[in-house]
Amino acid sequence: MTECTKRYHRTFRTLTRKKSSQPKQHLPLRRAKILCTIGPKSASRQILEELSKNGMDMVRLNMSHGTQEWHLNTIKAIRSVEKLRQTPLPILLDLQGPRIRIGSLPKEGIYLHTGESVKLISANSEKSRLSKYSKNKGSVIPVVFPTLTKDVKKGHKILINDGLIELLVNKATVTGLECSIVVGGKVTSRKGVNFPDTNLSGPTLTEKDLKDLLFGIENRVNYIALSFVRSAQDVRAVKTFLRKHKQDIPVIAKIERPEAIRRLSSIVDQADGVMLARGDLAIEMSLEEVPILQKHILAEANRRHRLVITATQMLESMTQHPRPTRAEASDVANAVLDGSDILMLSAETSAGQYPVQTVQIMARIIRSAEKGTVLRWEPSKTDQEIHGSITASACIAADSAARLTQAKAIVVFTDSGATALFMSKQRPAVPIIALTPSRESLKRMTAYWGVHAYLMPQISSTDERIQQAEDIVKERGLIHSGDRIVILSGEHAQKPTGTNLMKIHLVK
Ligand code: PEP
Repeated sequence: MTECTKRYHRTFRTLTRKKSSQPKQHLPLRRAKILCTIGPKSASRQILEELSKNGMDMVRLNMSHGTQEWHLNTIKAIRSVEKLRQTPLPILLDLQGPRIRIGSLPKEGIYLHTGESVKLISANSEKSRLSKYSKNKGSVIPVVFPTLTKDVKKGHKILINDGLIELLVNKATVTGLECSIVVGGKVTSRKGVNFPDTNLSGPTLTEKDLKDLLFGIENRVNYIALSFVRSAQDVRAVKTFLRKHKQDIPVIAKIERPEAIRRLSSIVDQADGVMLARGDLAIEMSLEEVPILQKHILAEANRRHRLVITATQMLESMTQHPRPTRAEASDVANAVLDGSDILMLSAETSAGQYPVQTVQIMARIIRSAEKGTVLRWEPSKTDQEIHGSITASACIAADSAARLTQAKAIVVFTDSGATALFMSKQRPAVPIIALTPSRESLKRMTAYWGVHAYLMPQISSTDERIQQAEDIVKERGLIHSGDRIVILSGEHAQKPTGTNLMKIHLVK
């Protein structure tokens, strides 16, 4: 036995150990998963453990903040919590993308008065900014954006600091952009700048992103999110890079640019999932469009069986207060009812005062919302992948069988996790128990709506596999004797056939 195989068997034994002295476990009722952004307020092992105990299903490392060294320490803390709690904690590495920021300004910032004018100039690098600024007198603001004067045209809108400050370009010359201040306010260094009317040149995948991607590969992250996606080509660029490094990490396209809304269908086609990044989306489009875009984007991604994450300001007031507002509770519930697989917390868990309480409350709101009507989608008619698929047919049949026979769970044997995702997208009324010999699939499936994933060894005989499954679910107290379950499997574990067998099984 190789060291690797020995390690596998050790883990498997731990994961399936008999727990006769423990009370019977009930399957958690919650189906939608909780993704927590980790930051200074949550990166310690102790808080990570508390978050995990209270409902955090996966973590986001936001590469817009912190150094690789900081993120590496966080990954180590996450892995030790995984080991301690014997719970997979998948990691989503969120690439910064071509975020444009204000350059260095005096510490106190500068105040832009409504009705006055300001000039924006281009700064190429971090270092050049301060000297460039200090040479200029008056309201001149450096922006770290090499093609600023080439891309931005007269009449374009510019938004600074989460859209709080609004400028209108009156004149664009090679030296800079002369703008009138439509809505004023204080500008400080490194604040984000958005150009909703501008076709931005330059790659979506920046040099920093490529370095961070390599960091993600080296540290075996489970999902990659790409910011400011403009086209399917952006997603392909990440996939090509990953393939070159012999990786197939799923790629989540963050939908936050107007171009992404226009090209949604082709982006959804290329990506493994989408994130509704409502923070930048509200700035790049407009605030009032976000609720309807949410419904549209979620429906499109769900029809194509892609993972959907709804993000940003879900329980924002909990960064300061121990209770959310009623409106926030409704927002979380509506994100569930609209069909999110995953709900994301940002500042609430990374920088807020109450990270653990936020997760607890989010879990409660989700559970309660899930008593409401769960949306179901007809697969998109254009998608060959769905209509021609044996796996998809088996999943649709398993969902019906579980409803008609009042089964307690659907058990899925899966290598890649694809069957578990198809099954999840059917939104069955009962839990999906996914069994896999692959540690990587185990982590990925932890993110899927309604899926409880466990490791099991590779077994070729279907009968033996069913026996193993029965042992695992009974030993863990998930299912009891006399319960009916629906089982999905492929015919040959060694020679994958896809999922082509369904059994309605009475647990002995
Ligand atoms: C957003 O803009 O809503 C978002 C999720 O992006 P980020 O947190 O990376 O700025």
